[in-house]
Amino acid sequence: MEKIWSGFYKKNINERLEVVEKTDILSEEHFQFLKNNEVLDFSTANNMVENVIGTFSLPFSVVPNFIVDGKQYVVPFVTEEPSVVAACSNAGKIVAKSGGFKTEVLDRKMIGHVALYNIADTDAAVRCILQSKELLLKTANEAYPSIVARGGGAYDIEVKVLSEDGTDFVVVYLVVDTLEAMGANILNTMLEALKVSLESLTEGVALMAILSNYATRSLVTAKCAIPFENLGKDGEYLAKRIELASKFAKADVYRAATHNKGIFNGIDSVVIASGNDWRAIEAACQSYAAKDGKYQGLSKWYCDKKNSVLIGEITLPMPVASVGGSIGINPTVKVARGLLNNPDAKTLASIIVSVGLAQNLAALKALVGDGIQKGHMKLHAKSLAILAGASNDNIELIVEELRNEKHMNLASAKKIVEKYNN
Ligand code: NDP
Repeated sequence: MEKIWSGFYKKNINERLEVVEKTDILSEEHFQFLKNNEVLDFSTANNMVENVIGTFSLPFSVVPNFIVDGKQYVVPFVTEEPSVVAACSNAGKIVAKSGGFKTEVLDRKMIGHVALYNIADTDAAVRCILQSKELLLKTANEAYPSIVARGGGAYDIEVKVLSEDGTDFVVVYLVVDTLEAMGANILNTMLEALKVSLESLTEGVALMAILSNYATRSLVTAKCAIPFENLGKDGEYLAKRIELASKFAKADVYRAATHNKGIFNGIDSVVIASGNDWRAIEAACQSYAAKDGKYQGLSKWYCDKKNSVLIGEITLPMPVASVGGSIGINPTVKVARGLLNNPDAKTLASIIVSVGLAQNLAALKALVGDGIQKGHMKLHAKSLAILAGASNDNIELIVEELRNEKHMNLASAKKIVEKYNN
């Protein structure tokens, strides 16, 4: 399997499709869908959201040979940004050579809350809620019996009193095992069903009942250990500088924001391809980046000097799903999931968090080595050539010439295109 993907990036689209066909990774139906470049049809799109006037496409790529927990994956990426796929492939290859990513799913539950105000005695309200826990859990489960029948359901209740600007809120947190679903609708249905009981128990008023995207009960850790020599000829030097870059992203919020953006170059690409709600994942992880009271870089890299190994670690909330939302509706999502061998929610989360760590490694390695622009501008040249009007017949020649220009920009690209057109 590994060999068949070798040189994949050098092939044209038809040759790449031949590789996909040879691997037998997709069903015939899904392969034909991909080969014919089919998309979401109008009527399905029209049933998904409001005011539809068409569909919107993005490039669909793969990162092959990505090893997570001893299994080899062909990871689907949907992104418009040049160099993201190349960078993840590159880092994935380094980590594959070093034993692959190892992951641990720490838990897989979702949290939602009901906020109450106008409560005369907040301590008494908290006591009353905790004493009624079993009854409240029963009410929540009765509101969504199908998740209970599948083996999940409301699991626990916690309560906090929070004060802001003279107002006290009693906040009731409901923890639910949503199994294979992300669970927003499941949680929201249960929480709304709890409102009346909670108002009568606390003699207060419910302000809102909604899922929280701060998914601290859906944490996943991914790790990798890379022998210095696998980072190239300056491996030890690079490893030490990657460790420093990781510390810098903890110290400086300006750096942390970009450090994390790089991680999400990969994560968002796979979250979108797998039909999951990328705003929910962004909200979960970006809030988790501030969990210690300060927004920080989400990954950690350090050197084990004794063994000459660079170790990378990341823990993220990753409440992605294998069912629900648009996952079963969008046909391209079915193809993307097929490439991953239709993973369950926990496996998908493990792959995605590993992709985040790979993307981070690629960015840091470039940043503390040659700098990010060298690789990025190479791929950016292609976008500039297209913008300047290059055709399929001459784009490769134009890109080659553009890369040798002192200033690689749109004006230079236009000049070269003009020369070829004349
Ligand atoms: P759904 O409402 O689609 O519910 C999950 C569905 O999956 C149910 O119909 C359930 O069946 C079915 N299902 C089949 N097998 C399983 C299984 N093994 N485990 C669990 N469910 C199974 O999705 P969610 O509740 O997950 O909500 C996600 C959607 O909500 C996304 O589209 C998201 O964008 C959106 N959303 C997000 C919000 C946020 O993030 N803050 C807020 C509001 C909405 P059955 O009916 O039999 O139980």
